[in-house]
Amino acid sequence: MQELPELDIYRAMLAERFAGAQITALTIHKKGMDEAAKTELIGHVVGTTVWFVERRAQHLVFHLDNGKRLLVYVPYEAYAFCGSGEKKKDSKAFATISFGDRYVTFYGLMPEHILTMSVKGLEEYMKVNGVDPLDKRLTLSRFVERFSKKRSTLRTALLDTGLISGIGPVYADEIAFAAKIRPETKLQSLNADAWERLYQAMGSVLRDAISHGGAGEKPMFEGDLLTGGYRERLQVYKREGQSCMRCGGTVQKVTAGNRKAFACPSCQELIE
Ligand SMILES: [Zn+2]
Repeated sequence: MQELPELDIYRAMLAERFAGAQITALTIHKKGMDEAAKTELIGHVVGTTVWFVERRAQHLVFHLDNGKRLLVYVPYEAYAFCGSGEKKKDSKAFATISFGDRYVTFYGLMPEHILTMSVKGLEEYMKVNGVDPLDKRLTLSRFVERFSKKRSTLRTALLDTGLISGIGPVYADEIAFAAKIRPETKLQSLNADAWERLYQAMGSVLRDAISHGGAGEKPMFEGDLLTGGYRERLQVYKREGQSCMRCGGTVQKVTAGNRKAFACPSCQELIE
């Protein structure tokens, strides 16, 4: 599961390891990528030095010293692993970026998920993505302005990547719980107090998840003790039938916008 916190942790780990390092090879293990696109991609990347790594929406962006940006879109089920020495043959790997004898391998990508762009091209490309929930410019009033136009349920809106980026099923449920609002509540029913709770919950849940290692299931390197540390802190996600740590009620599966969600009906209010 890769949502904003997990990607933010990836970004930090990749920057720590590879900022200042030279890319010595880029290997696409899977078939399916257009040969010309592959040659161009490798030509843009190999021999460059990574200045730093940034997260933009659901992407990792490597800033290269030739002015290009190497983008890796990380879908929900994808993951990455960093290692060193000879890489064992691995049929599940999609692409490996090598830095001398160190490398990062990405799993679960599609050919269109890895590409290079100019700085200007990247800005254009990012316009289709929703606002970043941790962007300082996203004030409470801007958040309300953006969300209140939607006629959907709270959960559907949080998962709408054109509206806001980086929130998937795990954090949508956790944010709704922290805000004490049922995920199936219609946005149009929220009052000022509920909007503020939702806004605060979004920031605090995501930041808390980042600081506790996120909810990722796969370690990013051998001996990685940080990744997944937030899983034991999840309050409702996949805790159906267990007791609510806040009120002692029972966490249940509910339906929000035709999809399943997890919530505690005793302490999350269905605002109508
Ligand atoms: Zn509860």
